[in-house]
Amino acid sequence: MTATVTSETTAATCTVAGSTVYTATVTFGEETYTDTKTVTIAALGHNWDYDNGTWSWADDYSAATGTIYCRNDASHTRTYTATVTSVTTPATAENDGLIVYTATVGSYSDTKTVILPALGWRMGHSLSLEGDIGVNFYYNLTDAEAENATVTFTFNGETTTQSLEKTDDGYRATFLVAAKEMAERITAVLTVGDEVKDTHAYRVRTYAMYIVNHPEEFSEELQTLAAAMLNYGARAQVYFNYDVSNLANADLADQTIADISTLSAPAFSATSLNNAVASYGIEYIGTTLVLESNTILRVYFNVTNATAFANPPSATIGGQAATWGSNADGVYIELADIAAQDIGNTVTITIGSYSYQYSAYNYINLVLGLDDEALLKETVTALYHYNQAAAAYFNSVA
Ligand SMILES: [Zn+2]
Repeated sequence: MTATVTSETTAATCTVAGSTVYTATVTFGEETYTDTKTVTIAALGHNWDYDNGTWSWADDYSAATGTIYCRNDASHTRTYTATVTSVTTPATAENDGLIVYTATVGSYSDTKTVILPALGWRMGHSLSLEGDIGVNFYYNLTDAEAENATVTFTFNGETTTQSLEKTDDGYRATFLVAAKEMAERITAVLTVGDEVKDTHAYRVRTYAMYIVNHPEEFSEELQTLAAAMLNYGARAQVYFNYDVSNLANADLADQTIADISTLSAPAFSATSLNNAVASYGIEYIGTTLVLESNTILRVYFNVTNATAFANPPSATIGGQAATWGSNADGVYIELADIAAQDIGNTVTITIGSYSYQYSAYNYINLVLGLDDEALLKETVTALYHYNQAAAAYFNSVA
């Protein structure tokens, strides 16, 4: 009597044992008899494929994971957090840079490379507001390039060449202009070694208008200052009849220059000054603000006794030693390069043993009291507003 044997196998998986069930069947008479034997198949265990894993990176490549798969069943995975390191080669003006990120798990690694586009030589501009009015030109230079770099400015047909100064915002060269020159084109040529790398033109007005037109980027104080500076520049152009078809404030929506009343200024007595300086052979003429170049406070005298004045008295203005100069209007002492925010400052002027207090506001009051000179009145009024805006701005950033 021979039995029929059948078998049914449940395959083992990586983690669960399988089995084969053998069933023997025999028919005897009208009865069927069966018997079963079960043979266990051991779980296979995972068969990790370390050579064909996959990597998954964070969008900014700051983190990564490595995943390996089971050869028996690709839905079996193991994921490891990678250690990510990076090496940066900075971009230069002319050459791309790169960042190579390396993710490491054990002895396996993967890399991603991000290109840093070449920067170009030109970085941007800003206004020079600390003293005289000017434009800062910023360039991308390596320290080695900067040692052999110059910027040559061409302005009204004259050229000047500067080396560059390292700042947090790049290498900088600054070109200063007079108030009446804010609308004039400044051409800047960057030379590195013997090669011209960049040539472009810029104007004080361009950057000031950029400030005015971008309230989201600049403080209200700086916007007010930029507008007041342009209005002053335009009044100076009109007063000096300089390039009046191209006014600094031409694109400014509000060109209003509000009238001002008498400014607070120290008491000044020309008679007392004259009495004090007579023995030095001079006689006080007047004090003026020179506005055509940078802002200069200049005190003029007539020489009444050349012999006495042959040995002129020592003088100081605002704590600085003043040397005597002379021109067609007389002899003078002066305080030059007065920054906009300092125009209202009272300065002490000493001549020999006499000293007195004076402020550019004394001069503005004097101009405002004149019967004519409408253009000069507008100019000093605009200068006052510029001064106030500058003081408010520097106060706001102090
Ligand atoms: Zn597996």
